[in-house]
Amino acid sequence: MSATGTSGVVVQKYGGSSVSTAEKIRAIARKIVDRSQSGDRLIVTVSAMGDSTDDLIALANAVTGPDISPSLREMDTLLSTGELVSSTLMAMAIHSLDQDAVSLSGQQAGIHTNAIHGSARIASIDTGRIMRELDAGRVVIVAGFQGLGETGDVTTLGRGASDTTAVALAAALSAERCEIYTDVDGIYTTDPRIVPGARKLLEIGYEEMLEMASLGAKMNPRSIELAAVYGVPVLVASTFDDVAGTLIHGGEPTMELRRAVTGIAIDKNVAKIAVRGVEDRPGVAGGILQPLADAGISVDVIVQNTSDDGTTDFTFTVGEADSQRALEAVKRQQSVRFREAVEGSDLAKVSIVGTGMQNGPGYASTMFTALAGAGVNIDMITTSEIRITCIVHRDDVPSAANALHDAFELDRTD
Ligand code: ASP
Ligand code: MG
Repeated sequence: MSATGTSGVVVQKYGGSSVSTAEKIRAIARKIVDRSQSGDRLIVTVSAMGDSTDDLIALANAVTGPDISPSLREMDTLLSTGELVSSTLMAMAIHSLDQDAVSLSGQQAGIHTNAIHGSARIASIDTGRIMRELDAGRVVIVAGFQGLGETGDVTTLGRGASDTTAVALAAALSAERCEIYTDVDGIYTTDPRIVPGARKLLEIGYEEMLEMASLGAKMNPRSIELAAVYGVPVLVASTFDDVAGTLIHGGEPTMELRRAVTGIAIDKNVAKIAVRGVEDRPGVAGGILQPLADAGISVDVIVQNTSDDGTTDFTFTVGEADSQRALEAVKRQQSVRFREAVEGSDLAKVSIVGTGMQNGPGYASTMFTALAGAGVNIDMITTSEIRITCIVHRDDVPSAANALHDAFELDRTD
C-alpha cells in the first residue's frame, strides 16, 4: 500500500446524508475534533445537507416555469449555497467544542475551474490559503462541489462531485489519504441487496474500483480517476459505524487483490440499438455513431459482426434514458445505409472484474458456464483486460449475479 503523502495531512469528505441534520453535524464535529486532537491536520469537505441540492433545483424550476430552463450561471451560484450552508454549520459546530476551524467556499479555498457551468472541471488549486489556515491550527472545512470559473463566476462540478473536490484537494495538498465517509460502510464484492452473500472488501485497486463504481458506495468515477492519476489512497467508510471500510489504492496487491476476480459489477440501466444489414465498408461505425456523439449520448458496449453477404450487423448499448434519442439519431443520419434499426430495452450489464484475470485463461468459460447453469441467456458479450461483461435480460440479474458470486467463490474470505 502506498503512504507517500505529507505526513499528518488528511482530507475527509462527508456526504449529504451524513450531514442532513443538526444532530448529525454535531456528531461529526465531535469526531473531527477528536481526530484533530490526535495530531492529524484535517481538511474536511462537505456535501449539501440531505436532499437540499434537489430542493434548490426544484425551486429554480418553479420560478422559471416548465418551458424555460434556469440560467446556468445563476443555477451554479444557487446550488453552491447548499454546500455553503453545510460547511459554515460544520465550522460552527466545531467551534462549539472549543476547536478552532474555518469554513471556505470553493473560491476561498483556491479551487479554479474552467467556465463550463454545471459540469466544470478543476484546472488548478492554489493551496496557499488552506495551508495558512492549517498552520494557524484550524480545521479547514471546504464547501464541496464548487469552484471559481475562469470568467470570475462560481461554478459547480456536476452532481455528486464533492468526492471530486475531496480527492482533488488531497492531490493538491499531497495528503496522506482521502477519507470518504458515507452511509454505506465500504465497497462490496457485489450489490448486497441482490446477492445476500456479498462481502465487504478491505481493499481494491483503482482500475477495479473504476469498473465497480456503480456499486456499493456509489463513488463518483471521476474522483477515482483523479485518485489514480495522483496516486491518492482513498478510504471509503461509514460515517457513524466504527467498522473497517475499504481502501482504494494503487500499491502492491496484498492478499485480497491477488484474487483473479474481485467483484461483480451490475448496471441495470441498459438499452441496446441493433442496426441490421449495414453496408460493409470503411467508415460505417463512425457514420452511425457520430450523430450520437453530437447529441451527447455515450455509447458503451459495441459489437459488430463479420460480414458474409456484404452486409453486417452493428449493435451497441446506451443508457436506458437515451435509447429513443439514440434510435432516432441512427435513423436520421444519411451517410450509412442499413436494412433496419431496432431498440431493445430492459437489459442489464453483469460483469466480472479483477486485475488478476489478465494473466489467466478460463475466466470467460467459467462465467458463461455459470450463467448457463442458472438458465441465463446472454445477449451480448464484451471484454476489457480486467473485465468480462455480459448483457442479459434485466429480470435475470439476481440469478446471474448469485451464480457468478458462487462460481468465483467471492464469499470466501481467504
Ligand atoms: N450536493 C451536490 C449534489 O447533490 C454535490 C454532492 O453531493 O456531492 O450533487
Ligand atoms: Mg448530494
